[in-house]
Amino acid sequence: MPTQADRLMDVAIRRSFLIPSAEIYGSPAGFYDYGAVGSQIKRKIENLWRQEFLQKEGFHEIETSVIVPEAVLKASGHAENFADPLVTCESCRQKFRADHLIGENRQAKKDGVKTAGLPPAELSALIRKYGILCPQCKKPALSDVGWFNMMFRTNIGPIEGNTAYFRPETAQGIFMDFPRIIRNYGGKLPIGIGQVGKSARNEISPRQGLIRMREFTQMELEYFFNPRQQTHPKFAKVAHRKVRFVEGAVPPREITLVEALSAGLVPNEIMAYFLWKQWEFYRMVGIPPDKMYFRKMPPEETPHYSKGNVDLEVVTSYGSIETVGTAYRTDYDLSQHMKHSKADLSVFDEETRQKVVPHVVEPSMGVDRLFWCVLEHTFREKSAGKDWEWFDFPPCIAPYHAWVFPLMKKDGLDEKAQAVEEQLREAGLSVCYQESGSIGRRYARADEIGVPYCITIDYETMEKNDVTVRFRNDGRQIRVKISELAEKIAQFAKEGRVTLN
Ligand code: AMP
Repeated sequence: MPTQADRLMDVAIRRSFLIPSAEIYGSPAGFYDYGAVGSQIKRKIENLWRQEFLQKEGFHEIETSVIVPEAVLKASGHAENFADPLVTCESCRQKFRADHLIGENRQAKKDGVKTAGLPPAELSALIRKYGILCPQCKKPALSDVGWFNMMFRTNIGPIEGNTAYFRPETAQGIFMDFPRIIRNYGGKLPIGIGQVGKSARNEISPRQGLIRMREFTQMELEYFFNPRQQTHPKFAKVAHRKVRFVEGAVPPREITLVEALSAGLVPNEIMAYFLWKQWEFYRMVGIPPDKMYFRKMPPEETPHYSKGNVDLEVVTSYGSIETVGTAYRTDYDLSQHMKHSKADLSVFDEETRQKVVPHVVEPSMGVDRLFWCVLEHTFREKSAGKDWEWFDFPPCIAPYHAWVFPLMKKDGLDEKAQAVEEQLREAGLSVCYQESGSIGRRYARADEIGVPYCITIDYETMEKNDVTVRFRNDGRQIRVKISELAEKIAQFAKEGRVTLN
């Protein structure tokens, strides 16, 4: 029996949102391509992030190498510690994530067993205690637990020994470039530097489609600040806004940001401000507020150098999943790189006339998990008004602004429709011309990929130079002059309008 997630993945593949990578060779697990429709949505999510987290904040965007020399990742701790617990079945030789096997065991779940941060010996003991069998061959043949480093390793150039890795996070590139950027922008803190790009982790058992991939896109922001100034100039504006928060096993509760701060759920105003930005961003892309919440990471899951981690989790058909991790990384990364490279990464603070190693708050958002959450929460079943399944994407991330149709492929309607399409493209809108199938069928196809507006050129157009614009969610239509069409469509999209009224 296919699950809800299987059904949605099937829809996503059929409608050109996603394509399993290298499909004709059997698709290795953990890799997905974005199809012609999906890549438009993904790019719009990324561009909206750029707008909200960089442009509106006056921050900088960079693009750093995906292949990173070993020295960088030794200093950051990834070469030694970026590992998951691995267990091998000594009978069928299959390999599994030890913590996942324990987490999925019914009795261990009942007993409330927590595996985060446990060393291999304790994980091995839990596997024995609960008599966990190999999920593949069902035999009691699981080995002791060991560590498996998740980085993809390579060699730079032909001479062996020049080890490098595909970056496991985009952040380290930002730390590498930090000294030049801060110098070029006047040496003043705070400064925000972000990037959107691919990261890779050689996950032991990739699963759940886009949730656990081996290559994925991150949108990461490093906010560098003087540790003596833990305030944020815009915090006061958002202090009384409400979000949902969880600590421990209790259900999420509504709380203002200032309350979260005084309850110690958030380490400082800076992080509280960026949590609000995430909350707003998620709402903009279509995640309902009652389906998401922040979770303060318990101490056993918080890295030793962090002064506080908060995840943004979304409820999905796979359960609740972490889609953004925000960490107060302190000066850990810069200090480590100073120690290992001998470069001076400190900044001179004019006010105190002292050198400081900046602290960092890092909101790290994965695009692919968010993309999946958007699909889940905007998917609509057939209903009385629509005899087809469709997507209720907010116009800001819909794959196209509009589709353009001639009512008929004759009497010059098709040429006129193509001229309208051209005009809208010239005005900077993303549109698509469609002439095959009945008009009802074309409306259905547009709805099926979440296009918010359909523009039809009919016989009246030839006389009056106006067209019909159909709104996706209620199917109602208005007539708009061609001369005003581009401006009106852009305006509707900006307002997020998906119904006539
Ligand atoms: P982390 O550095 O593990 O806190 O990851 C930051 C964000 O990257 C997560 O919140 C996810 O959105 C995303 N992410 C991490 N690992 C994966 C993965 N294997 N597949 C897809 N997205 C991931």
